[in-house]
Amino acid sequence: MMHYGSCHCGRIAFEVEGDIKSAMACNCSMCQRKGTLMWFVPRDALRLTTPEANLATYKFNKHVISHHFCPVCGIHPYGEGTDPKGNRMAAVNIRCLTDVDLDSIPVTHFDGRSK
Ligand SMILES: [Zn+2]
Repeated sequence: MMHYGSCHCGRIAFEVEGDIKSAMACNCSMCQRKGTLMWFVPRDALRLTTPEANLATYKFNKHVISHHFCPVCGIHPYGEGTDPKGNRMAAVNIRCLTDVDLDSIPVTHFDGRSK
């Protein structure tokens, strides 16, 4: 299934293919502040429909995850990194998808704070 997402102002828009079986909430210093609900997909499943140059990127700690956000409206639609096997992954913030009923998606909690 194809899902469509964007930041608030629309400078960042994307489509992403896959079934959302669950989402992850994390309590690390970053995720707790952002309040994102993350859905992990292979990076190739996500296609930006706006220029890559519209993305601003924040990195912290080990600098292994690129937290992308919109420099105009401040929304964080997704992040990028690699899984333990080296595959490129995207963590889509399902709160930024337009067609998703958030209440229907089970949320698992990840204790990122103590990692
Ligand atoms: Zn924006």
